[in-house]
Amino acid sequence: MSKKILVTGGLGYIGSHTVVELIKQGYEPLIIDNLSNSDLSVLDRLEKVCGKRPLFQQVEMRDKEQLQELFWNNNNDISGVIHFAAALLVEESVEKPLHYYYNNLTSTINLLECMKEFEVKPMVFSSSCTVYGNPDELPVTENASIKPAVSPYGNTKKICEDILADAAKAHELSIISLRYFNPIGAHESTLIGEFQKGAPHHLVPYITETALGKREKLRIFGSDWNTVDGTCVRDYIHVSDVATAHIYALERAMNKDEAKDLFEVFNIGSGNGYSVLQMVQSFEKVTGMKVPHELVGRRPGDVEAVYADTTKANKILGWETRKTLDDMLKSAWDWEQALAKEK
Ligand code: UDP
Repeated sequence: MSKKILVTGGLGYIGSHTVVELIKQGYEPLIIDNLSNSDLSVLDRLEKVCGKRPLFQQVEMRDKEQLQELFWNNNNDISGVIHFAAALLVEESVEKPLHYYYNNLTSTINLLECMKEFEVKPMVFSSSCTVYGNPDELPVTENASIKPAVSPYGNTKKICEDILADAAKAHELSIISLRYFNPIGAHESTLIGEFQKGAPHHLVPYITETALGKREKLRIFGSDWNTVDGTCVRDYIHVSDVATAHIYALERAMNKDEAKDLFEVFNIGSGNGYSVLQMVQSFEKVTGMKVPHELVGRRPGDVEAVYADTTKANKILGWETRKTLDDMLKSAWDWEQALAKEK
C-alpha cells in the first residue's frame, strides 16, 4: 500500500506538527493548503525539521474541481486523508457565520465526495471538545451529550461530525474524529509552532507574549466561576502529543476490518484540568519570568470547566501523552523566544 497521506491544512499549527510525525513514521504526506491562515515559509521550516521537503500543492478545497484534479493526478496513490483545513477563530465566526459554515462544510463535503469517487476510505478528522459545551460531568467522556455550540465555529465541528458519520455509513468510509482539548507548545526544534496573526486569541500565547514584554498585561477573563480559584479550567496538551494521536488514529482507520464501526470519536487531551491562574503560576515557576495580569469580567461564550477522560484513546488507540505541563509551558516559552530572535 502506498505511504502517501493527504494532509489538508498541513501548513497550520497542528497540521505541520502532524506532518513531522508522519515523516518520522515513514509516511509521505501530501500537504494541501489554501494559505488563508499560513504561508509557504512553513514548508521551508518543515524541510529543515524533517531533512526533506514535504510534497505540497496549493488547493482551494471549496472548489471541488481543484480537489478532483488533485485526486486524479494522484490516482490510486493516496492511502488516507487527515483533514485539518478549516477556518478556526471563535470570535471571527460569530461575526462571519456564513463564511464559517460555507468554508468548513463545503470543503469537508467536497473532500468526502472525492474520497468516495476515488475510493479512498480512511480519514482522520480534526474536531474539538467544543462539541461538549459545558459538560454535565467531568472528566468528559466521548459518551457525553453533544451540546449546542456557543459559536458558529463550534457548530461547524458538530455538523461536520454528523456529515462524516452519515457519509462513513453510506459509502463505507472509515473515519475517526479526534476531539482535541487545548493544544499548546511547539516542536522541540522551535522551527515550527503556532503563528499568530495579530493579537493572540488563546491563553498560552498571550501568557508568553506578556512575559516577553510584547503585551503589557494578561487579562484573566472571569474570577467568579465555580472552580478551584474562580478562573476557568481547561485541559492543555502538548501539540506534539496531539500530532502523534493522528498516527495512531490513521493506522486504526487504515487497518479496520469491515465489521467495525465506520465512524469513531476519541478525546485527545492530557486528562488534567488546570485553571487560568494555575497556568500563570506554573509558567512563572518553570520559566522564572513574570506575567503581569489582572482579573477582568467573563469572556462571552466561555465554559466554566472542561477536561478529558482519555481512557478510550489510551485503550483503543494505544496512544498516550508524553509531555508534562512543565514541558508544555517551557516549550511554549522556547517558541516565543525563538520567534523573537528571528525578528
Ligand atoms: N483566557 C484568559 N485571557 C486571555 C485568553 C484566554 O483569561 O487572554 C482564558 C479563557 O477565558 C479560558 C482559558 O483562558 O478560560 C482558555 O482560553 P483559550 O481561548 O486558550 O481556549 P478555549 O476557551 O478555546 O478553551
